[in-house]
Formats: sequence, structure tokens, C-alpha cells
Amino acid sequence: MAGVNPNGTLLGKTALITGASRGIGEAIAVRLAMEGAKVVLSARTAEAGDSKLPGSLHDTLDRIRGLGGEAAFVKADLSSEADRIRLVDEATAAFGPIDILVNNAAVTFFIPVETFPKKRFDLMMEVQVWAPFHLSQLVLPSMRERKSGWIVNISSPAGLHPKQPYTRRGGGAVYGMCKAALERFTTGLASEVYDDSVAVNVVSPGLVDTPGVAVHGLINEQTKDRVQPIEFIAEAVYQLAKGDPKTMTGRIDYAEPLLAELGVTPAELA
Ligand code: NAP
Repeated sequence: MAGVNPNGTLLGKTALITGASRGIGEAIAVRLAMEGAKVVLSARTAEAGDSKLPGSLHDTLDRIRGLGGEAAFVKADLSSEADRIRLVDEATAAFGPIDILVNNAAVTFFIPVETFPKKRFDLMMEVQVWAPFHLSQLVLPSMRERKSGWIVNISSPAGLHPKQPYTRRGGGAVYGMCKAALERFTTGLASEVYDDSVAVNVVSPGLVDTPGVAVHGLINEQTKDRVQPIEFIAEAVYQLAKGDPKTMTGRIDYAEPLLAELGVTPAELA
């Protein structure tokens, strides 16, 4: 099994990954660490047992250190402004200015519009839209000063408009709104910081088997054949986190077509 590449393309780079206690965020963190990035992991679950879901920051940290990678974690609740500021401060103190920001964390409720509570709407918007926006604000000054940076936002095909015939039952409208906003933010910011050589892109995963997906019971007889290996998402993020900001920016990418375009096979995750 692969470990850290001693000639990795991300050697000397600092990457901050949100939602790295489990699932896709954990896989992205491992992939970037395998290329030599110093990774700062963030989520609310520091230790196994702090959440009813599997995974913790400590577990991801151990996994990366176990393969010879460099990592630290900062426990933070992305719905808190103070935590977001502290997260970037502590990440920078640990490994230096952020070169790569991956906005991956999400909290999702599937509830029909008619009964969607305002409190949950606000929480989803805060974590899925405002937090990526605010974290970008916090890391951009240093990226612009250094004329170098990569921001990758994790979206979902849920951000696309539903097409007729409508086969899905209600519940995904707010999730789709969040991801549509995240995608539009991505292209808007990409155009704003193009001259500063900061790349801003989206990776939009298909259905991936993660603890979050298990909670929502999204993998079943009807969907199981379209489950996508997590390595595809991690690889797509890695490719966009090292791309030329002049040519690889403002993209809304699905992992498989992106990797086919680049002629890349996803690396096995250590
Ligand atoms: P997951 O298993 O539910 O993991 C979500 C992560 O977000 C966890 O690490 C969680 O950590 C963190 N998080 C949630 N609320 C947070 C908060 N308030 N503050 C800080 N961190 C918070 O999700 P996943 O399936 O890996 O999905 C990752 C991303 O991919 C999401 O943006 C999701 O929308 C997108 N996506 C996933 C799929 C899929 O099929 N899996 C498909 C399309 C798009 P703590 O609980 O420890 O805080």
C-alpha cells in the first residue's frame, strides 16, 4: 500500500481540510498528505466516542502519521464565527500560511420545504455556504500576497435543478440550494482572484459510501450500482489542488470526467 511520496508535488504546502473526521474529508486529507502536504484536519469530533458516528480527528491524524505524513488537528464547529477564526489562526500557527483550503464539511437535513424548520435552514446555510465563504475570506489575504493558492469546494449533483419526470420525493431542496450557492460562489471567487493566481474549483461527488450517507440511508437496492469509490473524489481534489491557477480554475468538476480528461488513475489510499 502507498505511503507518502518523498517527491510529492505538495511538499512544503499547508492544506486545511474541513470535515476531516470521517468520510470524504478524511480521504482527501490522506490523499494530500500522501503527496507531502502538511494537513490540518478540522471537524467537531476530536476523539472516537465524541460522536455517535464512526471516525474522529484523532483517528485521521493517526492514519496520516502512520503512513509517515505530517498532520495536526483543530477541533472547530463551523457554525461558530469564533471557531472559524481560531481554526485559521491555529492552522497557520501549526504549519504556516494556508496554501490549500478544502471546504468539505456539511450538515444536511432532508425535510420537505413545507415543514423545513428555520433553525435547520440557517444551520445548513451557515455550515455549507457561509463557512466556506468566511474561511476563504480568512485565507485569501495571504494567498493573494503570495500570488498562490488553491480553494476546492465540495458540492453535489443535488445542486443541479431537478428534471422531469420527477422521481425523487421531497426533502432535498435546501441541500440543493446550499450546493448551488456554493458552486456560484466558486465561479464568482475564481473570477475575482484570477489575477492573483488563486485557483477556486468545485469537485462534485456522486454517491459515496460514508458515515453521513449511511445515516440518511441513501445506499439501497436502487442506488447501490452507482456508488463511487472514495478514491475518485480524493484524487480529483488532489488534481485541482495542484493545478495551474491560470488554466484550472472556475471549474465545476465531477471526479470521473475530470480524471479521464487528465488521464489520471486514482491512487489507492494509504
Ligand atoms: P459525512 O460523512 O457526513 O461527514 C461530514 C463531515 O462534516 C464530518 O467530518 C463532520 O464532522 C463535518 N461537520 C458536520 N458539521 C460540522 C460543523 N458544524 N462543524 C465542523 N464540521 C462539521 O459526509 P460525507 O458524505 O463525507 O460528505 C462530505 C462532503 O461531500 C459534503 O460536503 C457532502 O455534501 C458532499 N457530498 C457527499 C456525497 C456522498 O455520497 N457521500 C455526495 C455528494 C456530495 P463532525 O461531525 O466531527 O463535526
